[in-house]
Amino acid sequence: MHRRELLKTALLLPLISACSRSGAGQNSNSTQSPTKEASANMSFTPLNKSKKEWQEILEPDRYQILFKAGTERSGSSPLDKVYDEGAYVCAACKLPLFSSDDKFDSGTGWPSFTKPIIEENIGKTTDYKLIYPRTEYHCARCGGHQGHVFKDGPEPRGERWCNNGLAINFIAKGDDLPELVS
Ligand SMILES: [Zn+2]
Repeated sequence: MHRRELLKTALLLPLISACSRSGAGQNSNSTQSPTKEASANMSFTPLNKSKKEWQEILEPDRYQILFKAGTERSGSSPLDKVYDEGAYVCAACKLPLFSSDDKFDSGTGWPSFTKPIIEENIGKTTDYKLIYPRTEYHCARCGGHQGHVFKDGPEPRGERWCNNGLAINFIAKGDDLPELVS
């Protein structure tokens, strides 16, 4: 009897350890790109730079989008058709905003994502520039306008984050994320 129980334990042990290994695998971020992991660990405080300061730093077309809430012409950004692995950072302060994992072809001519890389990196307001209200979103660190989020995106979230290509920079997987602008 005692011996049989020992035998049973011996048979079960490899199974138990195999289960715990696979469990640990599911909880890790092993499927995410290193860039995404680096972004998740990046903490920040809001940056208080005046529009005048940004105007001196940024190219005029980027400034117009980011700090005058402009919209670039549809199809004008090469980033619309970029599907390489990597991260998209704010073109002003360099905070990571989106991951290539969440990019999709919306057919609108603007780079489109299903969700932000980290929710905390995005701020939202309601924009009444058109007849109907729209949800404007911006970089939570510098306040730079990025685009609008619509509720006609793919499942499961059903969101389409429609971003100006001039408001972001693409950082390929394997490349270092740029230092945050201070
Ligand atoms: Zn920013």
